[in-house]
Amino acid sequence: MPTGKPKTTEGGPSSVLVTGGARGIGFEIVRRFLNDGYRVAFVATKANYVQRALESLRAPEDRLCAGMVDVTQQNEVERFVDQIRRRWGEITVLVNNAGISPKRVDQKVPWLSQMSQEEWARVIDVNLSGPFTLIRLLAPSMIANGYGRIINIGSLAGRAMPLIAGPHYAASKAGLIGLTRAAARDLAPHGVTVNCIAPGRILSDLTGPAEAAVNRSALSRIPIGRFGTAEEVAHLAAFLASPMAGFITGATIDITGGEFGA
Ligand code: NDP
Repeated sequence: MPTGKPKTTEGGPSSVLVTGGARGIGFEIVRRFLNDGYRVAFVATKANYVQRALESLRAPEDRLCAGMVDVTQQNEVERFVDQIRRRWGEITVLVNNAGISPKRVDQKVPWLSQMSQEEWARVIDVNLSGPFTLIRLLAPSMIANGYGRIINIGSLAGRAMPLIAGPHYAASKAGLIGLTRAAARDLAPHGVTVNCIAPGRILSDLTGPAEAAVNRSALSRIPIGRFGTAEEVAHLAAFLASPMAGFITGATIDITGGEFGA
């Protein structure tokens, strides 16, 4: 028997908030939730990508809304969440997808010794503290509602030996798995599940610009023999958001084509 039922708010469909929804995996998650009948709000920081996403989705204003919000700026996040609550009522699904993975400039020196405190802090801020801010902000209303779904987008780099990603990225994604478990433990008695999706290499703006040699070698490590697609990740997020996934919490689900590090 599936446990939990999505509660609609203000008589309308359930609302989902997706961070980093303007492109890549986040965009496909937005599209998937819209197709599944949710009201979808998403945030990102670059106006051109936000505009392009809205134009391509062509959904009415009572189903789709976007904000220029940096997840590291607590005030911006709070203002946007208030705005959504006033329009649509409580948010029942949160997808923490926004993430950055700065690339290495010099292959010769070990990455850790080249990294400034600022570079380290920025990646931890976006990839780990951003999800914390949003969970802290949205969990109380999910608890009050007796239902909620939180989905964090982690990475294989936080699960296995990181071969391409930097130390800051690997640490942020490993931290996100810890945050997922801690939040799951806290929120389970209140009908709120918290899970992490750990993608391997998925084609997107984050991976596409990598050197051909990097992508060739990444491909050679994937038993299924191809990169994943953003649609496949979105499909998994949609399942985890559904009432059918009510007994899954605190889990990290790999979507890697069979790859698990070196
Ligand atoms: P993209 O670079 O294609 O998209 C990232 C999105 O996050 C963009 O919409 C970007 O918008 C947004 N974003 C970045 N920083 C912020 C911020 N501070 N505040 C709000 N939004 C922000 O990445 P992917 O789609 O590839 O990755 C999505 C998630 O999946 C990330 O968490 C990534 O770590 C993870 N992942 C991706 C893999 C892959 O192979 N692609 C593999 C494993 C994990 P804008 O630039 O406008 O701010």
